[in-house]
Amino acid sequence: MKSIRASLGVLAFLTASALTAQVTAIRAGLLVDPATGSAAKDQVILVENGKITAVGPALAIPPGAAVVDLSKKTVMPGLFDVHTHLCLNLRTQGGNGLQALLNSLLAATAIETTAYRALEGASNARDMLRSGFTTVRDVGNAGNYADTALRRAIEDGLVPGPTVVNAGRIIAPFGGQYHGIPPERADITIPEYLYADTPDEMRKAVRENITFGAKVIKIVVDDQPYKYSVDDVRTLVKEAAAGGLKVAAHCATDEGSRIAAEGGVASVEHAYRASTPTLQVMKDKGVFLVGTDFTKQASHEMGMDEYHGWVVDRLKRAYQVGTPVAFGTDVCFVKDGETRGTLSVEFVTSFVEAGVTPKQILQAMTVSAARLLGMEKERGTIAPGFAADIVAMPGNPLDNIDAVRHVDFVMKGGEIYRKD
Ligand SMILES: [Zn+2]
Repeated sequence: MKSIRASLGVLAFLTASALTAQVTAIRAGLLVDPATGSAAKDQVILVENGKITAVGPALAIPPGAAVVDLSKKTVMPGLFDVHTHLCLNLRTQGGNGLQALLNSLLAATAIETTAYRALEGASNARDMLRSGFTTVRDVGNAGNYADTALRRAIEDGLVPGPTVVNAGRIIAPFGGQYHGIPPERADITIPEYLYADTPDEMRKAVRENITFGAKVIKIVVDDQPYKYSVDDVRTLVKEAAAGGLKVAAHCATDEGSRIAAEGGVASVEHAYRASTPTLQVMKDKGVFLVGTDFTKQASHEMGMDEYHGWVVDRLKRAYQVGTPVAFGTDVCFVKDGETRGTLSVEFVTSFVEAGVTPKQILQAMTVSAARLLGMEKERGTIAPGFAADIVAMPGNPLDNIDAVRHVDFVMKGGEIYRKD
């Protein structure tokens, strides 16, 4: 076993050496910069050793460079989805209400092995990358750390997938997101969540997650009648920060969203019912809204039909207030003829319904998401020194955001994963 790993190490080393020697030149018909909402014609992007080395209109292409001709396409930075669950496929079978959804979460927890969950993750990761998502934040529900295994497998080049920032086990008050579990079988929900009710338990849960490979801490503030308090959230945020990690907080209610924001989390997830004053608190504290803004279809599939109207209204108010927004979907259902990637990118339609401009949507999907993840100097922008995470599509997303649903070229870290 040791020798196999050693050989793989040598292969990885050789690949890295080969990349060092190889320059790739991308001819971009139109190059979109989400930060400014501008587009420049006929640009050249030089890529070497996985990173962008130069961008400009009349760059000399070095002899021997591999040329990628995207002169008929629009090129932009790779997309981010900062709220996904790669290692979870819920089979809601048409949606029979929220209880059906929770039952299917219980089924995934109780029946599927962690090994199978990791393989589901590999499949979803591949599909996300194909649709243009080069970075994702995976916010838990991954059995016994299938997400850490998936992240490592992608980093080691064993399976294709986006850069993954994973949460490990979700930290929550007793019971997690389960309701109606019989006391005789309380352990049936283990290991999906880490229950932590006292400050000591919270600190231990954060440390356990970090030890087992989490790169972000996900907490649930308000899924039971008892909620985490502002002091509880501060305890979790402080311990996560000591380990260099940020905190993402599941909050369905207005009160939960306010508690999380005042407790200093990096992002409030969902915030389905957040009031305008709460969105203002989030803005004042620089807390991101990751709205998981269900499309009409997604709401229906999840058995949560009324949520679509709620999130569109809340998204509209968030942009009016100026709350920072990063694109996150929460897609975890499966649908024939669709992939995790196509279902996720479709969420731009909720933004359009809320009156959000294409420039703002592209920012939520790139530079803003990178800022939430603390990657704003590494990913999310096409400029020298940044990772070569680059996608292309027919049409200009600044004219019609629907273009991002038709990505047909994907490069991640200088490697081409899709070229139709
Ligand atoms: Zn979620």
